[in-house]
Amino acid sequence: MRLPDFFLSSLAMTFITGSALAQGKTPQSTPGDQVARAVDPKVLRAHLEFLADDALEGRAPGTRGGELAAKYIAAQFKRLGLEPAGDSGTYFQRVPIIALTPEPSLAIGGASPAPLDRKTDFVLWAMRNDSLVNLDAAAIFVGHGIVAPEYGWDDYAGADVKGRVVISLVNDPGLSDSTTFRGKILTYYGRWTYKIEEAARRGAAGILLIHTPESATYPWTTVQSGWIGPQVRLERPPTSLLAAGWLHHDAAARLFRHSGQDLAALTEAATRRGFRAVPLDLRVRASIHSSIRRSTTENVIGRLPGHGPQAREAVLIGGHYDHFGIGAPVNGDSIYNGAEDNASGTAAMLTAAEAFARSGLRPRRSLVFVGFAAEEAGLLGSEALAGSPPFPLRDLAAILNLDVVNLYGRTHDFSALGLEQSSLGQTIGRAASAEGLRVSTNQEALARGAYFRSDHFALARVGVPGTSIENGNDFVGRPAGWGKERKDEYVATRYHQPSDEVLPWFSYDGAIQQLRVIVRAAVLLGNAPDQPTWNDASEFKAAGNRRLNGR
Ligand SMILES: [Zn+2]
Repeated sequence: MRLPDFFLSSLAMTFITGSALAQGKTPQSTPGDQVARAVDPKVLRAHLEFLADDALEGRAPGTRGGELAAKYIAAQFKRLGLEPAGDSGTYFQRVPIIALTPEPSLAIGGASPAPLDRKTDFVLWAMRNDSLVNLDAAAIFVGHGIVAPEYGWDDYAGADVKGRVVISLVNDPGLSDSTTFRGKILTYYGRWTYKIEEAARRGAAGILLIHTPESATYPWTTVQSGWIGPQVRLERPPTSLLAAGWLHHDAAARLFRHSGQDLAALTEAATRRGFRAVPLDLRVRASIHSSIRRSTTENVIGRLPGHGPQAREAVLIGGHYDHFGIGAPVNGDSIYNGAEDNASGTAAMLTAAEAFARSGLRPRRSLVFVGFAAEEAGLLGSEALAGSPPFPLRDLAAILNLDVVNLYGRTHDFSALGLEQSSLGQTIGRAASAEGLRVSTNQEALARGAYFRSDHFALARVGVPGTSIENGNDFVGRPAGWGKERKDEYVATRYHQPSDEVLPWFSYDGAIQQLRVIVRAAVLLGNAPDQPTWNDASEFKAAGNRRLNGR
């Protein structure tokens, strides 16, 4: 049902909140008003409370609770009249998962390499889906292991690393030289996952990342706990890489000395433009036995068709529905409900779908709603969708990701990640100002690379412009810093713990503000003549061009 325009504008008047009127502006009706008005807090709350209930057992991938959540989302899509957009005419897209628990040995040295001590010196895991992987190759130091044309940087220039083990620093040169890259703001080139991807593109046989607490932004104990147990990933065809791992900085320095090199001097050299990779007089011998466990989970995908020639293109609104399931009890509670993370975002995604369905408004581009699977295991659901998208990637105009919505109350501002990366920044700005909100950025989140840690990122990596909502900072009727205190308290006392459950003080007003901005942005993106574009300085621009050229 489409409402006549005069009806819209008179209704819009009654819904315009505070500031536009206070500033004496005449509110103008836009198609977004129609959908924004249909965003219903009761719907949001009902979905959140169901998904975060103990009955859902924490929604872990491959468990009964995870499956219940997926079926619930599909049932909602069906009720709202969304078309199935998963595998073979269903709402479900299969996500194959493999978990390898490695038992590695590693020796590095000259003619007769000496064994290193697992945990103190290194962690190592197989990059092949095989129960035994053997590696015996020469080592080469590749600095930061970065190829970034937009920064005029190529650590692999002139180096042949095929069949070798590359030894790489993490982070990017901006960490020590603020005039390069984005200074203290971590680019994707700085992430350890990027180093592994680039090494695979170059045909390396293995990669070892040198750990320092500053460059990795976490201590060695995190490395030990994170890479000793099962390595969970999407099951897909192998690359050239046999193995990947971390080397403790002290062990690396020792080995470099052994090879007649000085790690400190090479690290220094690697922060300067024009650095060239340095072959090391070292052999790397590794053997990795892995116990393997396979499982599957599903993304849930529904499509609200657009109209006209742009209907084959789509704007994606997604949120991950998985969490950690049942685990080690904390204060007698063993169910990791993930109410905020991310029953809230899943509920918000469903609420947005319902707002479009109820309003009857259809942008020209289709809208695709996704409940992402296995985000907590490392963005596996979104990676699966990016790897085998339900429609050509060039038709996927943008992703708006909902991972943890604001349950603390109304704000004066709207915040999201990656707005500086693409023209989505302007779109979000327009949508926020229609709600009387100003846009703010969280510098701290930028610096620690928060943009690389949720599902929008798996799509950004294949060139789809994306953003992910964050809480605003400026809460109505609260002193400055109150929002940051709430966030810090969440991270310290509830994040990834059984205590992330439905709490009596949850307020849905702030989440509704966020969601009204998101549906407005979806309308703008859905009706815009052109798809949004990456900014020239973005590290995703090249991937964006590959996407549009059909790869
Ligand atoms: Zn999350």
